[in-house]
Amino acid sequence: MTKTHQDEKRIGEFDLIARYFAPLAAKDGAFGLLDDAARLRVGPDEDLVLTNDTLAAGVHFFADDPAGCIARKALRVNLSDLAAKGAVPKAYLLSLALPADWTQDWLREFAMGLAEDQALYGIELLGGDTLKSPDGLFISITALGSLPRDSMVTRLGGKSGDMLYVTGTIGDAALGLSTQGATADTAGWPLSHAERAFLCQRYLLPLPRLEMAPLLRAHASAAMDISDGLLGDLAKLCGASKVGAVVNVDDVPHSPAVCAMFRHDPGFRTIALNGGDDYEVLCSVPKDRTRQFEADARTAGMAATRIGELTKYARGVSVIDSGGETLSIQSGSFEHF
Ligand code: ADP
Ligand code: MG
Repeated sequence: MTKTHQDEKRIGEFDLIARYFAPLAAKDGAFGLLDDAARLRVGPDEDLVLTNDTLAAGVHFFADDPAGCIARKALRVNLSDLAAKGAVPKAYLLSLALPADWTQDWLREFAMGLAEDQALYGIELLGGDTLKSPDGLFISITALGSLPRDSMVTRLGGKSGDMLYVTGTIGDAALGLSTQGATADTAGWPLSHAERAFLCQRYLLPLPRLEMAPLLRAHASAAMDISDGLLGDLAKLCGASKVGAVVNVDDVPHSPAVCAMFRHDPGFRTIALNGGDDYEVLCSVPKDRTRQFEADARTAGMAATRIGELTKYARGVSVIDSGGETLSIQSGSFEHF
């Protein structure tokens, strides 16, 4: 490849996708690459939903994390995408680039992790590819799900006035990551052993919210899973739907462990609102459907909390508190470049 002056001027991950790949994705099921899943028509009553996520050692997991956990996380982040689209997982393809020091023990544990989640989620491996990586472990999974024709929930259908909801609790995985990494000194954090273990588990092993799939199909105007941080991912949903949003920070649900960290240092709120890896569902629901949505969520045993609403596009994404004060919380979701 010839290096030109232009090569020096790098662009961000999403500009790169918009400039080079979106023009290749003209099919309406590709949604202009504004969604993280695509739709393929396969029959009169059924659509397939396809999604691909790649995990790299040192970026999405630590190379010495348990192999079974790495495998399950790689699978689950894809199942999480399917859940947020309203789809039921069917099968997956696996590509593996193994570093030079791979061992059979490691692979056995990796495969056992996949087997465990296959049984849990009722899916099977269809195929894939294996190669030697010149630089660390990479795992790429393409997951396929199915849903009734025309029922896929995209990021594009949100309307001003729709209510915004998230499942579960926000910020656990980001703090779990900090307790694992070498960068933050977490010894002084006011957390019990159980709270630390909880946060670590939230980072290591996300829970795809598959129980939400039918509810999203029935009620949501737009949805996505939160992989790169609540505020940044909300901005993506807003961009795709051409709406703005207002979020009340006091309504964002957090676990007791994360609340304890806010009391220790209020700065952790910014980390919790922008930290990735929670894999909760963010969705918008038209006002006249919120009661039924909330009732159905309760029946499904899912915590779905209202955190704000969608507004006019021109107003962008703003964060307020319960007093109505606008907060200047920096929003930044994870980008690879
Ligand atoms: P998110 O982080 O929001 O889940 P991604 O970064 O995975 O989104 O991708 C954004 C969109 O760009 C998706 O529609 C995805 O399929 C598409 N995309 C990303 N990389 C490529 C690529 N190399 N070729 C084709 N499409 C891509
Ligand atoms: Mg993705």
